[in-house]
Amino acid sequence: MRIVSLAGGIGGARFLRGLKAAAPDAEITAIVNTGDDITLFGLRICPDLDTVMYTLGGGINEEQGWGRADESFTVKEELAAYEVEPQWFGLGDRDLATHIVRTQMLSAGYPLSQVTEALCARWRPGIRLLPMTDDRVETHVVISDDQGRRAIHFQEWWVRLRASVPAERFVLVGADTAKPAPGVLEAIHDADVVILPPSNPVVSIGTILQIAGVREALEAKTVVGVSPIIGGAPVRGMADACLAAIGVETSAQGVLELYGSALLDGWLVAEEDAGVALDGVVVEARPLLMTSLEAARDIAAAALDLARSLREKKEAARGAGTGRGSA
Ligand code: GDP
Ligand code: CA
Repeated sequence: MRIVSLAGGIGGARFLRGLKAAAPDAEITAIVNTGDDITLFGLRICPDLDTVMYTLGGGINEEQGWGRADESFTVKEELAAYEVEPQWFGLGDRDLATHIVRTQMLSAGYPLSQVTEALCARWRPGIRLLPMTDDRVETHVVISDDQGRRAIHFQEWWVRLRASVPAERFVLVGADTAKPAPGVLEAIHDADVVILPPSNPVVSIGTILQIAGVREALEAKTVVGVSPIIGGAPVRGMADACLAAIGVETSAQGVLELYGSALLDGWLVAEEDAGVALDGVVVEARPLLMTSLEAARDIAAAALDLARSLREKKEAARGAGTGRGSA
């Protein structure tokens, strides 16, 4: 079986680890958000790709959900001693090695997709990781504060400001010319089922959907999503601040309507959100907290079961249609 999953950072990574456990023999491709990427101290940093790679490769800081286990921060302390900005971004010593290798390869002319493959040769995540695009795209956030109305990088809004200043708008700089990375549209086309994990619906999944051709390719497939919102609140992170900026209610219903029935065939919600509904989408309620690998595996298995049954139904309907047409 071929499975495609989109992914942001922590939520996507934990879900993918469950998906791998639920379908050990499947060929899994993750299409990962790169809108959070940033260049700091001359180094290209891809937070979501790294979170997925470290989580599946066994190098993640489990409590934190991002960054390396057994990390130290000597370089960060030394940079601070020089009073070099920014000091708000957590760059560990082990993690820095990844960014150095990536930056060196990018400078030598390799596209991000090949760099990612090279980094994965060490981490062996057991699934294929594809950046959504090899082109440089960056999510910027329009805010108004005492310095006036301006756009800042997503990381500055998320990490330094902790989303405390309301976002007026998100702008995916570079999206109008960005092409999907090699393999992205092919993987979607060849997929038996597609899963949207519990990742940030605006700045992770929403960003991937803005890359030319991706949404259209997904709409042709059987797609099941897992709600990142439980009982009217994000499980972790500040997805509510992102949803507010685009005028969507922070609820399993709001995100379902945001994705819409052209994209989704099935939608998993938490038990307290049973009752969520949209024409053309099959909604199922079940426990959705990824409190352990086993819990994530069960959620992934449920998403896969629903996707497979919806796909069979679609195919049966299509078969019946063809039968009548030729009769
Ligand atoms: P980020 O890059 O760290 O923001 O990670 P993601 O883009 O993957 O987004 C995290 C999203 O997943 C947030 O909206 C969380 O509410 C959601 N999330 C995190 N953990 C869980 C969980 O255990 N269950 C569910 N259903 N959603 C989760
Ligand atoms: Ca992210």
